[in-house]
Amino acid sequence: MKNVVEPLLEWYLKNKRELPWRKDNNPYHVWISEIMLQQTRIEAVKKYYLRFMERIPNILELSRIDEDELLKLWEGLGYYSRARNLKKAAIKIVEDYNGIFPENFDEIIKLPGIGEYTAGAISSISFCKKEVAIDGNVMRVYARVCNKDIDVSDIKIKKQVASEIKKILPDRPGDFNQAIMELGEVICIPNSTPKCEICPLNKICLAYKEKTQELIPRKIVKKEKKEEYLTVYLLIYNDKVALKKRENGLLKNMWEFPNIEKQLNINQLKDIFQNSQSIEEAILNTHIFTHKKWIMKSYLIILKQPLLDYDWVTLQDIEDKYAIPTAFRPFLEYLKKRH
Ligand code: SF4
Repeated sequence: MKNVVEPLLEWYLKNKRELPWRKDNNPYHVWISEIMLQQTRIEAVKKYYLRFMERIPNILELSRIDEDELLKLWEGLGYYSRARNLKKAAIKIVEDYNGIFPENFDEIIKLPGIGEYTAGAISSISFCKKEVAIDGNVMRVYARVCNKDIDVSDIKIKKQVASEIKKILPDRPGDFNQAIMELGEVICIPNSTPKCEICPLNKICLAYKEKTQELIPRKIVKKEKKEEYLTVYLLIYNDKVALKKRENGLLKNMWEFPNIEKQLNINQLKDIFQNSQSIEEAILNTHIFTHKKWIMKSYLIILKQPLLDYDWVTLQDIEDKYAIPTAFRPFLEYLKKRH
């Protein structure tokens, strides 16, 4: 692997993408972008990142922001615990480090929501510490360059790769970490044919030499996701719609349209909502989480009187103030079209 360092850095300096969070090495910028980039594509993150920085430009502001406003800014990125952890970590930095981001990996990794990858990325990019940042891209490039048929999701193997890469880190560890990840994102891409002809490592890559690059890394068969059926109530009274905060489980504390974890038919709904003026089937939506799948059937229910258990808000209020998770967004779009 040590032979990859020079060509990789050379390639990166000439080809690195212009990204809003790469304008400097400020740890706040690196941290926020790395958390947003977990589970979300670079192109999609750009607009969220710029909006976030405009409203919350530094750690102190983040430590003070109202949680509902923070979640509203995060709306669309999903995995909302990431946003909550950002605020918790900001409070800890303000309280324990006087508002200044800690430099060392061992301190950074103790902050809420920060794992090995993110701690490695921040300490290497912002503070030039010789720490690795191993993500799926790095694992794939490593497996192909060394032509090793490894399971890249295996934690033990990941640790071995991390220790091997740590030994070859150059004096610019941040550039190296970003370079190998970027190579994995744009050249040594997953699944489809990697772009070996234009790869700066093609003279040293063993998979390319052996023509095994499309077989490595080995494909992992994913487990079937558990299916759950939900009935979603789109309750309307005058020009307002009912929202509630989710009390537990997935999306805890997020705003949602009231729902129940089973599928009900229209007659069952008539029994439940006896003060309704009308009930009709609305839309179906399926939402896939990491480990489960929600199959959601919704009903539009016009009430004669509001129910006390809910917050009654206009559609404009939702747009302005309430963060609705992606799983429930199609119902909001349906209500807007109907309006
Ligand atoms: S030569 Fe091909 S397989 Fe090897 S690192 Fe480059 S893109 Fe990946």
